[in-house]
Amino acid sequence: MPYRATMKPVLQISTKIAGKADRKAGGMVFVDNGQMQFKELGLHPDILRAVQDAGYETPTPIQAQAIPHVMQGADVMGAAQTGTGKTAAFTLPILHRLMPFASSSVSPARHPVRALMLAPTRELADQIYQNVAQYAQHSPLRSAVVFGGVDMAPQTAALRAGVEVLIATPGRLLDHVQQKTLNLSQVSVLVLDEADRMLDMGFLPDLQRIVNLLPPERQSLLFSATFSPEIRKLAKTFLKDNPITVEVARRNATAENVTQQVYLVDRPESKRGAVVRLIKRLKLQQVIVFTNTKIGASRLARELQKEGISADAIHGDKSQNERLVTLEGFKKGEVLVLVATDVAARGLDIAELPAVINYDVPYAAEDYVHRIGRTGRAGASGQAISVMSPADERLVQDIEKLIGKKLMREKLPGLDMPPGADPLFFMPYEDAADVPAPTSTPASGAAKSPLLSSGVKKVGSGAVLLGGKPRNAI
Ligand code: AMP
Repeated sequence: MPYRATMKPVLQISTKIAGKADRKAGGMVFVDNGQMQFKELGLHPDILRAVQDAGYETPTPIQAQAIPHVMQGADVMGAAQTGTGKTAAFTLPILHRLMPFASSSVSPARHPVRALMLAPTRELADQIYQNVAQYAQHSPLRSAVVFGGVDMAPQTAALRAGVEVLIATPGRLLDHVQQKTLNLSQVSVLVLDEADRMLDMGFLPDLQRIVNLLPPERQSLLFSATFSPEIRKLAKTFLKDNPITVEVARRNATAENVTQQVYLVDRPESKRGAVVRLIKRLKLQQVIVFTNTKIGASRLARELQKEGISADAIHGDKSQNERLVTLEGFKKGEVLVLVATDVAARGLDIAELPAVINYDVPYAAEDYVHRIGRTGRAGASGQAISVMSPADERLVQDIEKLIGKKLMREKLPGLDMPPGADPLFFMPYEDAADVPAPTSTPASGAAKSPLLSSGVKKVGSGAVLLGGKPRNAI
């Protein structure tokens, strides 16, 4: 779903050098985004037309920085969170570079895989694919996405017909390689998106195997929310020496337009009531609530449903179809609360998400940065609320260390009640004094919450607790 055409990127970037982007080997690139327009970038007219169709006027900072370099064939290492326009930052110039090879021929031989884009999760791979398909719509360039958890046959058919741009999760890509349904010998551009998450998920050996299948003479791009030492090491292995480095936010910084609040409850058991109260009290319309475990996500979604809140869960134990249906429902506003684990929520592009809630404080501080990056996207303001109990203190301190900012712990009155008591009974919603007013502006329409009108708007159906012990927690 494209953002409003009028939306202006607000992320601040350093403007040390006024004018055009400047290449500094191995160092930072500074650029003055000023009033730059997409047409000034020199993109192929077919690609530019798709950009105009999407309603984009000015490139976002990461686009203004990265696109000229990628167009010239340079290796680029980009630090940018989802929501900064990073997908278009690599997709547009790659499509531009592939245009000389665009062919209307039906022969598969005329459509070898030339660009390979790897992503850690199915959802992210699918989102990149949607972007590529959108931006390539006026050109004969073909694209396809392959990820696990679904039938391989339709993917194989698409690969056999030939595609120039292939988006994939590493495991399924290797399955296709093994089945000899895929030839990577003509790949000239490799993209590793959300590389930090790929490392977290243990994809390093798979990445190594994949890269060994690619021609060494190629352009490589790596995007990551943070530049950890591990990411720098990965870049050293897979990218040419001294890649261009582009960065739109301070290292490990949290989005500047996101208000962060931490509410303290006395006991972990009080968190459910706190989340219910926050959703209802703040009249949140479209909110992702994060849990640390898959079982926790399913359980919380069911409990929210019982409270009359339209909620559904998305996590790694759900089938690919269930996840896509849930996501669609959430994007359309049919499901108001998406309870998600980190892996499932990673990279989700949901325009103007007004708020996220951390029901569980994440175990890894980096996940906090990713979670709150779901809101306040591409210029919209957002609210990130964390509910903590005293047991979470150390995790919150880790977060503060990472983001270089102290998070005020506010007490949420009325929530520490005897076990089993109904929090909503404990304090009526109308009591406006209980929760501090949100300091950020909720998304349009948030004032008229269907949650409050009739109790239940539509209860999601997918929040089932799957039997058996999960193989992995998230
Ligand atoms: P991404 O960071 O790639 O997930 O992009 C986040 C959102 O920003 C997507 O919904 C894009 O459609 C949107 N977007 C990307 N580039 C621009 C732009 N230059 N102007 C406005 N919106 C954009």
